[in-house]
Amino acid sequence: MKICTKCGIEKPLTEFAKRKECGPFGRVSHCKKCVNTYRAKYYKANRERLLAENRKYCKENREKKRRTCKKFYEKHKDEILKKQKEYCKNIQKGYWLQQENIMRIQKIEKNRGFAGEKI
Ligand SMILES: [Zn+2]
Repeated sequence: MKICTKCGIEKPLTEFAKRKECGPFGRVSHCKKCVNTYRAKYYKANRERLLAENRKYCKENREKKRRTCKKFYEKHKDEILKKQKEYCKNIQKGYWLQQENIMRIQKIEKNRGFAGEKI
């Protein structure tokens, strides 16, 4: 049993989150319920601010990105399309090469009798 330093109630250890750096028992000093209450309170108190910041960041970034992207895209349209095509092709090729390798290794392991075992 352990006493929560926040609400002062004695509770079983399972009611406290584990944390290595928290002393010999390795548990935080606030019970899970208190931690949850604190988190909820913090979120509620800062909700508008957090959301507004998030929205502002997204909006600014989106517009900035769109502007530079559009300009860049129009200037290098052919080049980009070509590169994209090549990139996709390479990825597909790479994927199959990888699959082939995996299958080959599995086959060798099977022949040696290693299948399913860690080497
Ligand atoms: Zn508590």
